[in-house]
Amino acid sequence: MIELLKARGIHNKRVLNAMGKVDRTRFVLPEYKNRAYEDGPLPIGENQTISQPYIVAYMTQELGLTGTEKVLEVGSGSGYQTAILAELAKEVYAIEIIPALYELGKKNLGYFGYGNVFLKKGDGRNGWKDLAPFDAILVAAAPEELPREWESQLKEGGKMLVPVGSGYNQLLHTYTKKNGKLIEVKSIPVRFVPLTGR
Ligand code: SAH
Repeated sequence: MIELLKARGIHNKRVLNAMGKVDRTRFVLPEYKNRAYEDGPLPIGENQTISQPYIVAYMTQELGLTGTEKVLEVGSGSGYQTAILAELAKEVYAIEIIPALYELGKKNLGYFGYGNVFLKKGDGRNGWKDLAPFDAILVAAAPEELPREWESQLKEGGKMLVPVGSGYNQLLHTYTKKNGKLIEVKSIPVRFVPLTGR
């Protein structure tokens, strides 16, 4: 998988190390274990999917984490992306709206014993106000428009990655907060499940 990620433009050593270290077979359903390292999404139940390795690596690389950051993740699902973030940031606060997937993420992450991961069950559209601001925000489900709360919970200089759009019409947006305002850069086309809630 690492060679494939490199070939697709993932060059950050810390990201490649984390992708090599975290055992993805622990996060997929038992029946998909032999396909865990395919570069595609796989079902995790409740009509949701674990994101494809390339997209996890791409989004993580975009955040440019150095190890000091407090990160908010929306849509933790299986907990795989959460684990990658936990390897690379100081603290990860992750929110999942579907109770069964919140439990799945808790179980999967529990196996690794990360002491810097905090999971919450609820609507990630609201962010995590008590713990804001965050150095980075990563969203794994697509809103049609950017929910308001995230901007105010992002630190000055911080980065936020959000797939925006619907169906096949989604683009990954990278936002950087400069002088209190979000600067938006659109990058690759993506296909995430819709952001639900509210
Ligand atoms: N990154 C995860 C999951 C991706 S699927 C993984 O790789 O396993 C996206 C997840 O976002 C799903 O688990 C879905 O339930 C969740 N989600 C959708 N809308 C949400 C919302 N408003 N708040 C929190 N989580 C949400």
